[in-house]
Amino acid sequence: MTKAIILGSGAASGVPTISDGWGACDASESKNRRSRAGVYFEDGATHILIDSSADVREQLIANNIRRLNAVFYTHAHADHTMGIDDLRALNYHIDDITGMQKKVQGQALDIYAVEPHIAEIRRRFAYVLTDEKVREQTHRPQLCPHEIQFGQPIIIGSVKIMPLEFAGHTVVTTGYVFNDGQLVLIPDYKEIPAQTLAYLQKIDVNVLIMPLTAVEECRYHAGIDIDKHYIAQIRPQRTVLTHLGAKCDYQTVLQLCPPHVEPAFDNMALEL
Ligand SMILES: [Zn+2]
Ligand SMILES: [Zn+2]
Repeated sequence: MTKAIILGSGAASGVPTISDGWGACDASESKNRRSRAGVYFEDGATHILIDSSADVREQLIANNIRRLNAVFYTHAHADHTMGIDDLRALNYHIDDITGMQKKVQGQALDIYAVEPHIAEIRRRFAYVLTDEKVREQTHRPQLCPHEIQFGQPIIIGSVKIMPLEFAGHTVVTTGYVFNDGQLVLIPDYKEIPAQTLAYLQKIDVNVLIMPLTAVEECRYHAGIDIDKHYIAQIRPQRTVLTHLGAKCDYQTVLQLCPPHVEPAFDNMALEL
């Protein structure tokens, strides 16, 4: 069985936000309570996480995700990486019979990103990805970074993953195509480069996950008009809008959506 879960449907501040509370969101609608960005993809025994926000611990616990084969990053911004320390729990194997945690000796968790994002993660979390021996006795995740290239697919277990380039955010970002279109994840973006769009138009996209940070476009994020423009060109079977900020009330966004498009919510499961 193949499925995906929207672990976190919120933008960088989550909803409610510290500064603005619920913003335009109806506090009585439970789908408006949003943690930060994260998506999980599972195909049989292959378990993949995309981004590790500060909320990743709660997200993995809520969905009973205890093993991962790999973590892929869309970019290194704080709202997509700040939970990296919690990935150390994935270096342990939970024995199904005894329930005891056992360290998997020497088994680092593989993380994947394009070179500038690996470099930025290394800079932000130097204590995690240092090549030097850490002298003090400190717990840290054991991660094995892998550089990937736009347009060069890689295989993780039973899953083919194609990294694609996106533009218009403050940095170049990485989107991912799983199993030739079974699932497509568009990262923070404002513009889809011609080469990426051509690729997405030539495959059959089953489910498309794309960001809607605010209904109106802003400097570094697409709004609903830009999203709709690209949905019409990619023609997915179904589209889910995520990375929703406090200006994006669930019911209000739903009314603005064309057929087969809907806003995401935390722990939303997608059969693929
Ligand atoms: Zn973001
Ligand atoms: Zn970002």
